[in-house]
Amino acid sequence: MLSCECGKSVDVDDLLTCITCKAGESNTKSVPICAKCFVANHNGHQFEPAAKQEILSMNNQMSTFLQMNLKTYEVIIPTLSEKVAELLEVIPKNCEDFEEKMQANVSYEKAFEKVAECRELAKNYETICEDFVPHLRGLEKKLQQIVVSVEKLKTLGTESSK
Ligand SMILES: [Zn+2]
Ligand SMILES: [Zn+2]
Repeated sequence: MLSCECGKSVDVDDLLTCITCKAGESNTKSVPICAKCFVANHNGHQFEPAAKQEILSMNNQMSTFLQMNLKTYEVIIPTLSEKVAELLEVIPKNCEDFEEKMQANVSYEKAFEKVAECRELAKNYETICEDFVPHLRGLEKKLQQIVVSVEKLKTLGTESSK
């Protein structure tokens, strides 16, 4: 329900927007009017259904909302994967350092301990990757679906504004 300039609440489908008055008062948002007020105060003016304005405004709100969300994650996701890439580079680097130290001079016992630790870490790493890589792939897939849906939204937008 929206208010007419006479104050009456009218269902949006029964409201009109006076194009002539809107054009006259540039910069002001068009005032929806009821059929009775149109006949009484806007005789001979051009009009369109107020629903059209509402749809356009909803359309705007929706795309602003969508774009805001997309912008947020557009920043977060690449940062996340960049961080992941950095971390993945650090792991082999540290392994090299470790290998060098091992070759230097350690007792057999210490080395044995370290190798066991290393195996444990490798297993851990594998588990983590197994857990998260499918999620990343899933994320990619889901994001692709969103992209397709947004494409569809765009089509609807051009159809309704015709
Ligand atoms: Zn009215
Ligand atoms: Zn008018």
